[in-house]
Amino acid sequence: MAQRKTTKAKARAKAPAKAPAAKAAPAAAPRPDKPYDLKQWGRYTLYQCRLCPFNSLHERVLLNHIIQRHAPQPQPTGLFGADGKPLVKED
Ligand SMILES: [Zn+2]
Repeated sequence: MAQRKTTKAKARAKAPAKAPAAKAAPAAAPRPDKPYDLKQWGRYTLYQCRLCPFNSLHERVLLNHIIQRHAPQPQPTGLFGADGKPLVKED
């Protein structure tokens, strides 16, 4: 008397599909029309300053950084206007 051993391998019909990036997230690419680059930080998009290591998750914050840190600042001339305020040289 032979004992029959049947093994039924259940093939898993639905394997967990890896769907890496179905979103239309902007990839890390240089943006010649913008003053910053975009980088991926996990699932977030980072706005990266081109002139220093500063970056932010928010475009507005990075644009403010560029204006405050990298825009030419008005230079004092040592002269005063008719209103009594110091005159500045703006390039
Ligand atoms: Zn910067």
